[in-house]
Amino acid sequence: MPCQTRFLPSAADKLRHRAKEKAMVFVGVHEEWGRIDVTQADLGCGQDRESIYKTKRPAPLTCYECDWRLHLVHKTHGAYDLWFLRHANKAPHCEARAAGEGMAHHLLKLDLAHHARAAGWSTEYEVAAPDGSWRADVMATSPDGSRRVALEAQMASISVTDIEARTDRYREAGVEVCWFTDRKTIPWLDNVPCVQIARPDDDGGPVQVTAGAACFEPKWCEDRAVCDWCDCEDCGAGVDGPLPCDGHGTWQPATPFPLERFVAAICTNATRPHRLRMGWDTKGTWRWITRQYFDMEEEQLQAHIRKYQIVERLLAVQQRQQQARQAAEQEHLAAIEALLQRQKALTKPVVEFVYHEAGTYPSVARHGSPEFAMGVPVYVRGKPYAVICPVASRLPALRSRLASLVFFAASERERTRLVAQSAPGQRVEVLTAELTPTSPPAFPPQREKGDLTVRQAVNRMLGLDRM
Ligand SMILES: [Zn+2]
Ligand SMILES: [Zn+2]
Ligand SMILES: [Zn+2]
Repeated sequence: MPCQTRFLPSAADKLRHRAKEKAMVFVGVHEEWGRIDVTQADLGCGQDRESIYKTKRPAPLTCYECDWRLHLVHKTHGAYDLWFLRHANKAPHCEARAAGEGMAHHLLKLDLAHHARAAGWSTEYEVAAPDGSWRADVMATSPDGSRRVALEAQMASISVTDIEARTDRYREAGVEVCWFTDRKTIPWLDNVPCVQIARPDDDGGPVQVTAGAACFEPKWCEDRAVCDWCDCEDCGAGVDGPLPCDGHGTWQPATPFPLERFVAAICTNATRPHRLRMGWDTKGTWRWITRQYFDMEEEQLQAHIRKYQIVERLLAVQQRQQQARQAAEQEHLAAIEALLQRQKALTKPVVEFVYHEAGTYPSVARHGSPEFAMGVPVYVRGKPYAVICPVASRLPALRSRLASLVFFAASERERTRLVAQSAPGQRVEVLTAELTPTSPPAFPPQREKGDLTVRQAVNRMLGLDRM
């Protein structure tokens, strides 16, 4: 029908011309009969609506608000028979017209009621709360009366705050709500249970739901015990060992489907508004979903919780291991520090001791070296004569080469340790020295120039200083 093509502008056109759109008015004034309601076949006053339609002389109809001439318009839209009044051209600004209903709004209301009734529900238009806190375009009620759903055609712009407040008022009244709109951009789409609809321009098919409904697309690693998506942030990649897959499914917009199916699904409770719980870009937004998708999201959510319990356990184990390693290293450093202290303290007594024994002053190396089991070599006439405090654990590999030298120890306990690891008959002398108190050892120790720091001593032991 060409008239419908003309009458039903595209959504973009509607947006652009919304302000100028000729709103439909349903009540007017007849010169002789007074008030008429054109939605009723008898005009609400016992007359015949057909008798004032397309008459040769225009019927004497005027606007009760602005007195401008009105035309009775009759349109059929699919199953609908639409009767309404339209202001004649060049009408002044008029409150009745401004408050009147746009065609798109009116048709959507008819559609919503029609689809709810097709699902076995009863519907009423313009149902207001007893206290006036809300007014539903279409109030649909389930056959048993247990559910009431406000089906709201929201073609006009509204602030997110306002539509949230209106949604809250329905919730407080125990009324479910879905907002329907044909707007291109919908600032409130994520904030309230809402869908976008599109009416085909040229009556080319049913009204479609084009946004506001979502499907969950599940995705799991082939082996759910080992997740191989580990390049993402915050995936527990800092933890050693395999982690279970916590799912990589995402919410996706539903492909457009008929409004009729959507309203039917609301009535059968097959679809419900849900605040999405997954996805950095979808989490927290309201979407209409089905039970099946809710379960899929739930499965992924549970897998995610389980995975992070495992991550936390593994992290705790790793942390304990690291603490143990650090403690062991501290102990090791403390032992080295103590060794350096002993060697330094023994140097003077050893020089005296060797002088008395060899009859000449020995020369003492600055510090220990690996060839002498980290002990400090003492030379007499250029030849190795003794070793100050070698490290017992290093002796087995060197014992025969060092067998002819004198070992100096700082205590009986140290002597016992050295003897246990030395060649049979190894000479070990104990010299008492005044040890500078070193408890507890402070790191890094302040040392005289030329002395080794603990770190240097460690490097020397590991041979790192010669690399
Ligand atoms: Zn008017
Ligand atoms: Zn990952
Ligand atoms: Zn995975």
